Amino acid sequence: MIEFITNLSIEYGFSQEVIIASFVSLFVMLIFIAILIFKIFEPKFKLYRVDMFHNVLWKWSYTGEKIVDLWCYCPKCKSMLHVDDENCSTTSNLGDKITFFVCHKCGECEVGRIKGGDRNYALRVVTREILAKIRLNTFDIYKYK
Ligand SMILES: [Zn+2]
Repeated sequence: MIEFITNLSIEYGFSQEVIIASFVSLFVMLIFIAILIFKIFEPKFKLYRVDMFHNVLWKWSYTGEKIVDLWCYCPKCKSMLHVDDENCSTTSNLGDKITFFVCHKCGECEVGRIKGGDRNYALRVVTREILAKIRLNTFDIYKYK
């Protein structure tokens, strides 16, 4: 490489520093273009990471096409919600199982609830709703930014 740069320097009359700086800037530009192309061809749904379901703000990210790190936040103060599903272990009647979403910062008030099961059930319900919006292409990436 050094020999190649020295030959270029002699052949075209540029200093070695100028040639090295040119190669470095060319390399940086190629990386920038590669990132730009990757971002342009990334599926649009990957920008869909926030939405409101059951009066609760949900945020998530993606690993490949899979939804990960799904969690609930208060729509008013944006803090993480406390999930209360204790009643689910004391009853076997699905209609009585409720997961409550409570905000400590907003005076322990209930923000929302999902009927039919515990927190894992609630996460599955919301995941299905997100996937349905992606499938039907009805999501809005700017609504809750
Ligand atoms: Zn709150």
